[in-house]
Amino acid sequence: MPQQVRGVIATGKGQPVTVETIVIPDPGPGEAVVRVQACGVCHTDLHYREGGINDDFPFLLGHEAAGTVEAVGEGVTNVVPGDFVVLNWRAVCGNCRSCNRGLPQYCFSTFNATQKMTLADGTALSPALGIGAFAEKTLVASGQCTKVNSDASPAAAGLLGCGVMAGFGAATYTGGISRGQSIAVFGCGGVGDAAIAAAKLAGATTIIAIDLDDRKLAWAKEFGATHTINAASGDVVAAIQAVTDGNGADVCIEAVGNPKVLEQAFFARDLAGTVVQVGVPTPDMKLPDIPMIEFFGRGGALKPSWYGDCLPTRDFPMLIDLYLQGRFPLDKFVSETIALDEVEAAFHKMERGEVLRSVVVL
Ligand SMILES: [Zn+2]
Ligand SMILES: [Zn+2]
Repeated sequence: MPQQVRGVIATGKGQPVTVETIVIPDPGPGEAVVRVQACGVCHTDLHYREGGINDDFPFLLGHEAAGTVEAVGEGVTNVVPGDFVVLNWRAVCGNCRSCNRGLPQYCFSTFNATQKMTLADGTALSPALGIGAFAEKTLVASGQCTKVNSDASPAAAGLLGCGVMAGFGAATYTGGISRGQSIAVFGCGGVGDAAIAAAKLAGATTIIAIDLDDRKLAWAKEFGATHTINAASGDVVAAIQAVTDGNGADVCIEAVGNPKVLEQAFFARDLAGTVVQVGVPTPDMKLPDIPMIEFFGRGGALKPSWYGDCLPTRDFPMLIDLYLQGRFPLDKFVSETIALDEVEAAFHKMERGEVLRSVVVL
């Protein structure tokens, strides 16, 4: 029997979101219905509402979620009802040319539920990043569910589903940050702070946080930044060189999505260092105008990072274990917990930079 539950819907470009009755079908082959326990408010949800992703309104928003599997469809073997899971938006296929090459973290054919969730009148919904978890229940592909230790708080665990995983992976996997290295993180929201926490965990000894907002720089220190630079206060590249013996950082993480910031990250890097692009640019942005001789002469690597090059089945349980052991501060990303009908207000707080993450708890 299809079920009716409440969900947060974006009906049109720039329109405030509303809580509506939605219909969740029974899970079909390869699908799972998840009772959502918590879902973080991410910038991407706001981008959907603003029509910045595509025009497939109405959207069912929410994609950083944890919950309990309620029912599974035919052929599902990776989870069973009752499992506590974190949802991911890159369910690996296992069959594409990247998976066959042994690089499932780059899977070129990730998938979502086949059936559609709808409004009560039958209008099909577009779930944000194929998840749609600002809702009491949601329908996903079973591969989007990763079982983790149920001792974890749902509000903290759900954040692994997007921003925290992207930032952790950008530093750890894409950037390869390691013991004794230096790292500069540009942009200290949820993604940047997760990169900082990852660098601390990996043993980086110089962790430089860069932002325009002193409040965010103070948060960055709590996650492990050893130095902070307000980008409004002068030459960012020179300031980074000043705390790295004049050399620049081994790894620079661009967590904003801005050509000017990417340019700073490029020049703030030591010879043969790595620049990681994890901030999501808008379609109109162009790469900075950097002399090709600088690109060649400095060596190293410029690397985009998809979802932190993560593998949910490998990384979610590991990060939950580190969190439960007190070694990864997932709780610190939760600025406040809110109800389903407070998502619109949370968007405004996010725009004003007042929160790292508001998390809907159900
Ligand atoms: Zn694949
Ligand atoms: Zn997100």
